[in-house]
Amino acid sequence: MNDLTDNHADGALTDFIRERVRADLDSGLHSRVVTRFPPEPNGFLHIGHAKSICLNFGIAAEFGGQCHLRFDDTNPAKEDETYIRAIEKDVRWLGFDWGENLFHASDYFEQLYEWASHLIREGKAYVDDLSADEIREYRGTLTEPGKPSPYRDRAPDENLDLFARMRAGEFADGAKVLRAKVDMASGNINLRDPVLYRIVRAPHPRTGDTWCIYPTYDFAHGQSDAIEGITHSICTLEFEDHRPLYDWFIENLPVPSRPRQYEFGRLNLGHTVLSKRRLIQLVTDGHVAGWDDPRMPTVSGLRRRGVPAAAIRDFIARLGVTKADGLVEMSYFENTIRDHLNTSALRRMAVLDPVKLVIENYPEGQSEELDAVNHPGDETAGTRKLPFGRELYVERDDFMEDPPKKFHRLAIGQEVRLRFAYFVTCHDVIKDADGNVVELRCTYDPETRGGDAPDGRKVRGTIHWVSATHAATAEVRLYDHLFAEEEPGKERDWLDDLNPASLSVLETSYLEPALTDAETGVPVQFERLGYFCADPDSAPDALVFNRTVGLRDSWAKAKGR
Ligand code: ATP
Ligand code: MG
Repeated sequence: MNDLTDNHADGALTDFIRERVRADLDSGLHSRVVTRFPPEPNGFLHIGHAKSICLNFGIAAEFGGQCHLRFDDTNPAKEDETYIRAIEKDVRWLGFDWGENLFHASDYFEQLYEWASHLIREGKAYVDDLSADEIREYRGTLTEPGKPSPYRDRAPDENLDLFARMRAGEFADGAKVLRAKVDMASGNINLRDPVLYRIVRAPHPRTGDTWCIYPTYDFAHGQSDAIEGITHSICTLEFEDHRPLYDWFIENLPVPSRPRQYEFGRLNLGHTVLSKRRLIQLVTDGHVAGWDDPRMPTVSGLRRRGVPAAAIRDFIARLGVTKADGLVEMSYFENTIRDHLNTSALRRMAVLDPVKLVIENYPEGQSEELDAVNHPGDETAGTRKLPFGRELYVERDDFMEDPPKKFHRLAIGQEVRLRFAYFVTCHDVIKDADGNVVELRCTYDPETRGGDAPDGRKVRGTIHWVSATHAATAEVRLYDHLFAEEEPGKERDWLDDLNPASLSVLETSYLEPALTDAETGVPVQFERLGYFCADPDSAPDALVFNRTVGLRDSWAKAKGR
């Protein structure tokens, strides 16, 4: 993990971008910082985007400035209104607010067209008839300079006329493009006459059929920043080589402000993928149940899984911002989630893989209520009543017929504590025809109510349980890494690295009654098992719970780390 700094969420954050912002404010270059988060509405946001969101909105908040939400909607073929709504919801849920500052690159189409015409008039842009393949061929390589298009020296008037006719729809898709006239021999390929406009006949979610030419990212982005008065345009490292072009446009156009671009290392997380193209494929090919499948690294998937927004923000703050792309271990993220849930989640009891336990000396038909604390570290969380009776469910693996020495849970003749309840001792097991244990026959000591023996005798194990007559039944969905390999696709096709065991469904688990009205998406700790929350699929008569994260890092243990 080479992306770690000393940042902690509880202290003031510091990194090279924040230092730059502070310097620009101190020197008076800017009186107020303005940043933006510029998603392309062609997919749902993922945890990598969350890093960019925390950085842009975080800086604006820390320095008393503002952060814009700008949809970079310049490619109508791939963009969709559902993505726009999902992105807005996710940014809000992460805890950020753009206030009045919601923008769309498409709001600037007319201005961008005007600026493209300005470049043409200045002899700095031309209409090119070469095909996309020819343009690529003429562009040259890292070692070979490009060669000029035969259309490069068209006169401004001819270019203006052709560009207007491109807009008017006189030419087929792909027949012509508008290119900037920069430098075909530049060592930076981005400066070899980049394309500014393409002909694309696709209805736009916002501008409808008004346009059949659309600006490229490179032409739209910096100019949108300038229009909005962005001071620090913060993006990921892959745009570093585009910065000279970003600056070229700002220098060559009568823009109202002079934004500067800064790049930081993108977040990569182990055992998952953060490429939108791949995430789209996972959804459309049905490898997951949707964008918000709790195994997905999307903000909506994490929310559904029960990950608190604060844990995501804290995770990102702990990583810090550096100038290098790093691969962060999934276990590091999961540990941050555990830290948060350990503090915030109420404790409950549930039995995931049940076996019946019958207390032979407990009167038939009788039941009682026991007090259980809701959070051992927080008295203000109070207590609740747990129903107890003759028949209980306990976890199948809390019993062993031939236990090893250090097994302190249920075994024949071994006394254990039922959490918050009584000491019990197992005397006998009942098995089915196949030899599976179906019932544990026990006795209890009525003197140990609440979990302590008046004679001071100790037991070494405490196990959780639920009352069979009072329990609610639930489906519980356990999640594991979506990809078995830490870096999917490193050794073979990335889809072959999908983890076939990423989802396992327990059809019949038993929950204490208080869990019937658990709030969707708000995790509780199932004692000794992990953190779980009700899924949106859950209904009062058909409860469904998701495991947010286990109590400890079982993956690292399984891998022998
Ligand atoms: P793609 O994966 O298709 O290239 P994208 O992830 O760049 O798309 P955008 O909608 O353009 O998608 O991203 C919006 C912003 O989020 C950009 O400024 C981008 O730099 C930033 N961003 C995207 N992925 C990450 C990441 N993994 N870590 C940090 N920032 C990211
Ligand atoms: Mg992008």
